[in-house]
Amino acid sequence: MEIGIVGAGIAGLGAAYELRGTDADVTLLEKSRGVGGRAATRRKNGCTYDHGANYVTPDPELEAFMRELGEPAGIDDPVWTFDAEETIEPGEDRDRPSLTYEDGIRRFAKEVLAECDAALETETRVESIAREGERWRVESEERRYGFDALALTPPAPRTAALLADTDWDAAIREELVEAIEAVPYRTILSLVLHYPFELDRPYYALVNTDKGHEISWFSREECKPGHVPDGESLLIVQMAPDWSLERYGEPEEAVAGAAAGLAADLLEEPPLESPDWTDCGRWRHALPDEGANTDVLARAEDDALYFAGDWVVGEGRVAAAFENGRELGERLLQQRDEPL
Ligand SMILES: Cc1cc2nc3c(=O)[nH]c(=O)nc-3n(C[C@H](O)[C@H](O)[C@H](O)COP(=O)(O)OP(=O)(O)OC[C@H]3O[C@@H](n4cnc5c(N)ncnc54)[C@H](O)[C@@H]3O)c2cc1C
Repeated sequence: MEIGIVGAGIAGLGAAYELRGTDADVTLLEKSRGVGGRAATRRKNGCTYDHGANYVTPDPELEAFMRELGEPAGIDDPVWTFDAEETIEPGEDRDRPSLTYEDGIRRFAKEVLAECDAALETETRVESIAREGERWRVESEERRYGFDALALTPPAPRTAALLADTDWDAAIREELVEAIEAVPYRTILSLVLHYPFELDRPYYALVNTDKGHEISWFSREECKPGHVPDGESLLIVQMAPDWSLERYGEPEEAVAGAAAGLAADLLEEPPLESPDWTDCGRWRHALPDEGANTDVLARAEDDALYFAGDWVVGEGRVAAAFENGRELGERLLQQRDEPL
């Protein structure tokens, strides 16, 4: 059976992982240059930073899996909280570890990929899908593919857009598009601010708990082993959804300058107003706030069309996306011997 998986983020990789070592012929089609999707890492000027997902909070089973595959790095310093009045306080103890890797969170995706025997086509943006008899035809700008079963894992709005244009004469199509479009998302501008000096604080990160501040998350990449050379600081400042949406198209210089000013105020540390270099992650569809109607999604399986991703479960977490992808892989395996 030929299976196409659109998207090599954590969910798509989870599905491919479950299908490894079987006679399923799996192809991952990924629009970016590499795998991992929103579990993303960049490198610049000797620093490594996770400008999308910051860390994985695995349950014991996933933690064991990550340790079996490679060497994740724990973040030992705590996460504290702040509110609209900028009162900073210790947070609650975490019951799960916070894991990334010395060379960044994208490593997790690379390690899962290394276990898979799927073919990976990067820089392949799927432009359209169509049902042709018992097969799915999938087209990128460059190529046309054919699959017996197709899994869509891009964020819900991208998946809905693909389905809206699909040549697929099924009563369920419109209902599916509606159910997937209904998933609400938060937009996040993630500003990366570098300083040629150390910042001494008793916490790794601050999270805004009353949703009343322009900053929703602030963290120090130097607390992750191997990410930032000694004597430097690299801050990740994730802006609140309204702020991010309003200023989404503004140049990096403007949004980074504003974020640096807000961070300097929050920490009462005026030198933070002037980073020596910056970067910006623009996440239009950063985090789903709810899940899709899975009863509607399941009805597409009659036509060998499947979905996976954090938006399917309504939990914007790497662990949730991975588990959802693996569940999809298991379902595909169960159905492998049945006519699709
Ligand atoms: C700023 C930010 C901070 C976050 N912080 C955390 C955190 O600290 N901890 C945590 O656990 N989670 C966090 N998350 C959430 C976490 O990153 C996601 O829940 C998880 O990575 C989702 O994985 P996914 O595979 O479902 O989707 P994605 O990672 O979005 O993967 C979908 C893939 O599909 C590809 N794609 C899209 N359209 C097409 C197309 N047409 N053709 C081919 N490929 C396509 C994309 O390039 C992408 O690789 C954060 C996310 C963001 C944005």
